Amino acid sequence: MALLQIAEPGQSQAPHQRRLAVGIDLGTTNSLVAAVQSGSAQVLCDDSDIWSVPSVVHFNADGQVTVGVAAESMQTDALNTIRSAKRLMGKNAEDLEQSWLNEHYRFDSTSGSLPAFITAAGNKTAIDVSSAILGTLKTTAESSLGGDLVGAVITVPAYFDDAQRQATKDAAALAGLQVLRLLNEPTAAAVAYGLDNDGDGTIAIYDLGGGTFDISLLRMQRGVFEVLATAGDTALGGDDIDNAIVDWLLEQAGLESLDDEFARSTMKAAARLAKEDLTDKHETVIEWVDVKPGRADTLTRDDFNAIVEPLVKRTLTPCRSVLRDAGVDREDISAVVMVGGSTRVPLVRERISAFFERPVLTNIDPDQVVAIGAAIQADILAGNKPDNDLLLLDVTPLSLGLETMGGLVEKVIPRNTTIPIARGQEFTTYKDGQTAMSLHVVQGERELVTDCRSLARFELNDIPPRVAGAARIQVLFQVDADGLLTVSALERESGAAASVDVKPSYGLSDGEIEQMLQASMDNANEDMQKRALQEQLVDASRVLEAISSALTSDGDEYLSGDERAAIDRLVEKLQAAMQADTANADRNAVQAAVQALEQGSEKFVERRMNASVRRMMAGQAIDELETTLARTNNNNSATDSTIDSSVSG
Ligand code: ADP
Ligand code: MG
Repeated sequence: MALLQIAEPGQSQAPHQRRLAVGIDLGTTNSLVAAVQSGSAQVLCDDSDIWSVPSVVHFNADGQVTVGVAAESMQTDALNTIRSAKRLMGKNAEDLEQSWLNEHYRFDSTSGSLPAFITAAGNKTAIDVSSAILGTLKTTAESSLGGDLVGAVITVPAYFDDAQRQATKDAAALAGLQVLRLLNEPTAAAVAYGLDNDGDGTIAIYDLGGGTFDISLLRMQRGVFEVLATAGDTALGGDDIDNAIVDWLLEQAGLESLDDEFARSTMKAAARLAKEDLTDKHETVIEWVDVKPGRADTLTRDDFNAIVEPLVKRTLTPCRSVLRDAGVDREDISAVVMVGGSTRVPLVRERISAFFERPVLTNIDPDQVVAIGAAIQADILAGNKPDNDLLLLDVTPLSLGLETMGGLVEKVIPRNTTIPIARGQEFTTYKDGQTAMSLHVVQGERELVTDCRSLARFELNDIPPRVAGAARIQVLFQVDADGLLTVSALERESGAAASVDVKPSYGLSDGEIEQMLQASMDNANEDMQKRALQEQLVDASRVLEAISSALTSDGDEYLSGDERAAIDRLVEKLQAAMQADTANADRNAVQAAVQALEQGSEKFVERRMNASVRRMMAGQAIDELETTLARTNNNNSATDSTIDSSVSG
């Protein structure tokens, strides 16, 4: 939180002064900006009372840039009127070849790595186009809110990769807009509905826009949204409905096709109006105006439904596949949110509600819901609501983990994990009777603690004394929306708990992060060897520990003098193999000595075991039997990681 409370230079914030931050839905078809005002999030209008800005930019030879409705009216100048630039964000020349944009515009894909639209005003990349749209929204916001913005939360599709997200950030920077955070569109929609406050559950976000369809499954857990699965169709949306209506009109008029592109776009515009009309009405009249003066057709809701039906059906396949991918049953979905202008079509709502077997959420305008969620996030990030917990979809730049026996690192959250994130792992004790554990939180990619960055240490006390490896310590790593790491440890049986908070990114520059990554790559091989050796040494100590404690307690009872001496010699041999300067010890020698000791003490272990069984049969000491078994098992396999006990009870 503190990190994002940026004060304007030379200006300290008055107690009640709100910091102006907005949420922006940078859509393929339409873009909009929203802000929280007097406690509620609202979409902002420009001077002409328009809130939904068509994502269309016109460039003319004088270098004049026109955005939105005004640009749409210039569509006769097709090559200079760029739409759907979002489809090209973060894409390269190869991707472009498969895109329909390639058929509608002229491109320069030779200069540099970014393909650019060739316009009257020169080459324009998708970043330039998006930047023009963002600039317009910024102006709208600043004049509507009456001040300078501290920043914006901009939404992106959940499936956007790093390059696409970076391109979005670049576009914002070019427009002079500070990005507080990029937020996934489905997450923004869930936030708008306050589903982050509704407790844990799985949510489906159905987004049918102008030219794209996305379905996402989100899991809400402990205040954190996680995208479980996404699917969709990048060539399915309201545009297809408009085209289908035009085809229907042609059929009514007994025509094969329309004369020209202009006639087609006129009829498409009429079709779109009719479609919107049918949201509330049961029929509407479509006039052919200049295309066939005097002709008009009546489109009823039933006819319209028949036109839309196959398109809605096509969206169900991705819906099924996200459920399958996430391994979620329909009954387990706790809410279904409708997003995108095309979900205003009543049949869409009906069919999706039937598919998920529950009412769908529509009370927030589906065109606005994403921008509204983004505005709520922006308001929190700007520091206007300091005590609210918030969501973030950033990534951990370096792995986070715990030190385990032998100075090794057990990575709990790998690098590049989207945050916020919560991940748990079970650890266990190393020594018999161990009642305390020292937890060392580290950051980095290397295998040994000495090569990583130490973040924090803390202790878990009051662990019930058990045999080594029997205690179950649940360690939870949580990185919150602001990158703050909380590590907590819990021993369930006793309820013993402890935790620590750290800011892993504190004091780390991008350069240092890069250096750490480079070092891990350079040393990968050597690190693996070191790790294998350390693991072998840990295993050896565990065997030594178990045998020595067994020898102390009943060595005299079950072993003859010679047998005892033989085991003692094997113990010494192993100790010698281990002691050769640990860093340079010979792993194979240690392994051989461990095996020799295990074999040499087999009889002893067997006799102790039999004695335990006999005692148990006599109705005694079940605990003792468990102890023996646990100890034997431990010698062979260690499923959990053991944490060093610098403090043992
Ligand atoms: P995107 O996210 O792709 O930018 P939007 O969510 O803004 O798109 O949706 C735009 C689409 O919604 C357009 O195809 C538009 O015609 C359609 N749309 C808007 N209002 C309605 C309505 N009342 N009925 C049907 N479709 C609508
Ligand atoms: Mg959208």
